[in-house]
Amino acid sequence: MAKLYFRYGAMNSGKSTALLQAAYNYEERGQRVLLAKPEIDTKGADQIESRLGVSRTVDFLVATGADARESFRAAAGDAPIACLLVDEAQFLTPGQVDDLLRIAVLDDIPVLAYGIRTDFRTEAFPGSARLLELAHSLEELKTICRCGRKAIFNARLIDGRFVFDGDQVAIDQGLTTGEVTYESMCAVCYLTESGGRLDGR
Ligand SMILES: [Zn+2]
Repeated sequence: MAKLYFRYGAMNSGKSTALLQAAYNYEERGQRVLLAKPEIDTKGADQIESRLGVSRTVDFLVATGADARESFRAAAGDAPIACLLVDEAQFLTPGQVDDLLRIAVLDDIPVLAYGIRTDFRTEAFPGSARLLELAHSLEELKTICRCGRKAIFNARLIDGRFVFDGDQVAIDQGLTTGEVTYESMCAVCYLTESGGRLDGR
């Protein structure tokens, strides 16, 4: 039986790089893989972009409200698929994560989902929460905070200043509020910047 894998980490922990490397490893052995991401992620639209400069177009986007298993079947066609790789998996709905488990277990195709565990307020993304519940295998991809500790949170900055309230999703948008960026941080540095607040409290 194939398995559902969730490889999670803070921002800039190399998730897209790891995904593209995994795809390459399959293809080097002559096996076909499919790459997907949720449509909600506006960053790079249909591209999976590694910070190392490698990028690749996804085979299909999982539209909001779509059945991910049906989307996968439509993209796969009749040729055998060795693996499904999903980037930005935190933006899937819980129901779409359920679909990923069905692909792994019922269709016997390994599914590797990569994503961020929590948002800038330290709350789990709905897709990530479901992946933590369902995945056969959890693997943390690590990156370091500016202080050298392991980063586990993603602090949000607007025009270079930390904010701890706002919508869960605000990806590189030139909002009227200013330029949104993120910094991967350890709990010590996060709580120092937030004045002890977590979850906006
Ligand atoms: Zn730190």
